[in-house]
Amino acid sequence: MSGKASKNKGVTAPYWYEPGLGRIWLPYAQMKTATPPLAVTGTNGARITLADGRELIDGIASWWTACHGYNHPHIRAAVERQLAQMPHVMFGGLVHEPALTLADRLTATLTQDNLACDLDRVFFSDSGSVAVEVALKMAVQYWRNRGVKSRSRIVAFNGGYHGDTTGAMSVSDPEGSFHAAFRGLLPQQIVVDLPTDQASAAALAETLERHADEVAAIIVEPLVQGAGGMRFHAPRILETLRAIADRYELLLIFDEIFTGFGRTGQMFAFQEAAVLPDIVTLSKALTGGTLPLAATVARRKVFDAFWSDDPVQALMHGPTFMANALACAAANASLDLFEREPRLQQVAKISDALREGLEPCRKLHGVNDVRIKGAIGVVELDRINDLDALRRRFIAEGVFIRPFGNIVYLTPAFTIGEGDLNRLMDAIRRVLAER
Ligand SMILES: *Cc1c(COP(=O)(O)O)cnc(C)c1O
Repeated sequence: MSGKASKNKGVTAPYWYEPGLGRIWLPYAQMKTATPPLAVTGTNGARITLADGRELIDGIASWWTACHGYNHPHIRAAVERQLAQMPHVMFGGLVHEPALTLADRLTATLTQDNLACDLDRVFFSDSGSVAVEVALKMAVQYWRNRGVKSRSRIVAFNGGYHGDTTGAMSVSDPEGSFHAAFRGLLPQQIVVDLPTDQASAAALAETLERHADEVAAIIVEPLVQGAGGMRFHAPRILETLRAIADRYELLLIFDEIFTGFGRTGQMFAFQEAAVLPDIVTLSKALTGGTLPLAATVARRKVFDAFWSDDPVQALMHGPTFMANALACAAANASLDLFEREPRLQQVAKISDALREGLEPCRKLHGVNDVRIKGAIGVVELDRINDLDALRRRFIAEGVFIRPFGNIVYLTPAFTIGEGDLNRLMDAIRRVLAER
């Protein structure tokens, strides 16, 4: 028997030899060693049905998108109606009612209770990363259109995550394992610590004293840095950033792609602070988790810098599937649900339950921190040695929870039942107690 054969004895063929799976390239996965992905045949509410008949309780709502639970009948009906009428038409030179209605409703939602808020010009795209790219391009071209060519860099923060496209990577945490390989490809931005104390605020001010005339904008995820480590900061940090942006005449971009639509407890995270951004990016929960859609929303002064007789001063961006009509119909239906159903109360209730259910983890071996914000529950560990094994362990408990870095977290659908939420938290307590 050859050495090779004996090595493989008793080992089943790797999953990547299976039909179909042998043709798929999965996200963030070492294809050679990753645990085989689970085939899903259905979703409903906070449940995922697997091809082998098992049912998992979903703890993360498909990367934070499915805020009303899966297959909400109201969104489904709206998408079905739109499908019969017109699934898509290009947005260059053409518009349609679902997009116009959505632009009106989004700006109304963003500006609620604040007459001074003029965040009222919406540019649609098809994913969060692209919405960030558009925000960065808006900021740089804003200055160029005003005759300032030197302001083309962006100030961003350690621990931040803004997406996987090139511009978005350049403003994400440079040490984050996601993007380290691509440093040579990326424009060099100015990435510093969030100004959470006097020293970091002074360091930011000092950086800007030297570089402000090269900088177009500051970008930050308000209140919660999500995929960079689920780190929270206080609303006053946003006020500090607004003051700094004003002092050095920078645009301020809030990336609400994770935090927007109730996740942190308010409709938008920035509404906890007494300041406005100049540009906001939205995606993730925008369509209630049904279809890909994103928006970059600008204040009037940003839009006005593009308002000109010169065609070169137009915003030079236009995704093929921009403002897809099906996705806009889903987003309008999702906003209906925020109006008709008590979503923010549900978030507050989930927040209380997470605090009660996850706080006991603090006493477990290897737990660094437990933190809750809105419908986000985070258990931070010293380290996770085998991420794949931990993920498998949760599946064996009948829950879909997907730790990353040193973080185990829950971001459930806002409509999740008390029993399901308790089962998610039971699983976390039980699995972490085994370590
Ligand atoms: C997920 C995310 C993005 C990227 O969105 P994609 O749709 O995955 O491109 C950008 N910013 C934040 C804050 C995110 O959470």
